[in-house]
Amino acid sequence: MKKYFWISALVLVGLLTMVGCEEEAQTADDHYGQDHSHHEVITIFEVIDRRAEEVTAYVHGDHWHGNLPEIPEGENISLGAYIEEDDEEVLLDGDHHALGVTLADGAEEGIVNFDLHGDHVHIIGEQEGETMVVFQFIHDGDVEYVTPPLEVKVK
Ligand SMILES: [Zn+2]
Repeated sequence: MKKYFWISALVLVGLLTMVGCEEEAQTADDHYGQDHSHHEVITIFEVIDRRAEEVTAYVHGDHWHGNLPEIPEGENISLGAYIEEDDEEVLLDGDHHALGVTLADGAEEGIVNFDLHGDHVHIIGEQEGETMVVFQFIHDGDVEYVTPPLEVKVK
């Protein structure tokens, strides 16, 4: 009897994990209730393509869904973000809270450059190629959260 219980429990956990990944991250509720220390948790991090006015990629745990628009060489893309901290929207005013972006550790240099404007960022295509970037949530000048690395392509 016990054996069957564990097998069904494992199958159930497997199913839940898969369903969790398919579903929109927006509905994911990662609140376990016990950790109410001062450290706040980023519950939603979506990158917005400001020209298309749509979410182009969002963080789901340790990985991304979606991707960044390709950047023509010599041009740039303009990106904003929708961020929730402890399930509450963070207002990116560029002062108290700001969006940042930088090269991921060990990523190829010379492909892109960055312009930070507080509430949004520009990624500039310097040279044809691919590299990896990370986005940052900056709170009073300190990087409070860094996303997983995300690929960016310059054509
Ligand atoms: Zn996922």
